[in-house]
Amino acid sequence: MRDVTARRPLLRLALAALAMLGLAGGVLALRPAPDIRETLYLFGTLVEVETHGVPEPVARAAIARVEQRLQALHSDWHAWRPGALEDLNAAIAEGRPHVVAPLLAQVLREGQQLSCTSGGLFDPAIGALIEAWGFHADTPPEGAAPPGTVIAALVARQPRMTDLSISGAEIRSANRAVQLDLGAYAKGAALDLAAHELRAAGVADAVLNAGGGVQVIGSHGARPWRVAIRDPFQWGVVAAIALRPGEALHTSGNYERYFDQGGVRFSHLIDPRTGHPVQGIVSVSVLDTSGARADAAATALAVAGREDWPRVAAAMGIRAAMVIADDGTIQATPEMNARLEPVPGGFPSPVQVIALPEGVLPPVCPGI
Ligand code: ADP
Ligand code: MG
Repeated sequence: MRDVTARRPLLRLALAALAMLGLAGGVLALRPAPDIRETLYLFGTLVEVETHGVPEPVARAAIARVEQRLQALHSDWHAWRPGALEDLNAAIAEGRPHVVAPLLAQVLREGQQLSCTSGGLFDPAIGALIEAWGFHADTPPEGAAPPGTVIAALVARQPRMTDLSISGAEIRSANRAVQLDLGAYAKGAALDLAAHELRAAGVADAVLNAGGGVQVIGSHGARPWRVAIRDPFQWGVVAAIALRPGEALHTSGNYERYFDQGGVRFSHLIDPRTGHPVQGIVSVSVLDTSGARADAAATALAVAGREDWPRVAAAMGIRAAMVIADDGTIQATPEMNARLEPVPGGFPSPVQVIALPEGVLPPVCPGI
């Protein structure tokens, strides 16, 4: 057989490009691209990225780009290591305005909006309280709870996201007690961004799985991407969910970061109204089309507690949520209930369907 490309470099180049796109062979028959899986270490956690139907070089380049961008954000958004957020927190404590990168300003604006709609139950301005409880460390805190007087003093200074004025990329705070900790929605915001990057790089079908946060783009060919929600009480799964294109699922719980003292478990979710860790709720999962909103809402609903979470979900515009209490009770909105699929063995306990209240308007926050 004579190599027709031997003296025709342009043809050879074109065929090489087609091969890369999985189109070479015969008469440009479509060769399905393999699924690509990579595990990245980002935001202090393992993130699995899986693409479907994307030519391998395109997928690998897109994933490398996501890794590069998110790695940079991790230090910029970190609450207790040197970086952009620490600089901003120092400026706020000294009463100085401070200019940040446009992306950080945008994420803070989003956090401010989400905090407003949650009625302040999700409030990334309570960094000093989170630190006081010992959660500004890579390992869960050990030892005693902080003195009540310290907590009461921090609560009395009322740090709120609504204290911030964000003008372009310049941040000012009317309250020097504001210390930003983006932990409750950074993963969601980062996965939103990662999905955006993947799409821009030509990836139409992918899933990003970062422990308690999942984000999908498109589907896995003819079938949806399916994920599982972890059982907060034991090694296992509560339910599975088939995610639709563009959906995000975020779970907040007290089963990963907490400390036990005198038989009481102190969660890393802090109620800004009392300054104390959330009790009674062990896991909240929220399904939404925005990762940042799902992540922030999961935290807000845990803080809202067993009675009030449906009202807060309605105010935040969340339709699909599942809340698991410390006695094992599982509650879900009708939209979430319709999406929950039992795993072999069934649900750990029957799902109570809780309708969301009608006509709840989100709080209005002047000036944001
Ligand atoms: P993870 O995915 O790590 O479980 P969550 O989304 O549950 O994270 O957020 C928990 C983190 O959010 C805490 O470690 C703390 O940094 C921060 N946080 C705790 N309580 C609140 C709150 N009420 N509002 C905003 N941020 C909070
Ligand atoms: Mg959260």
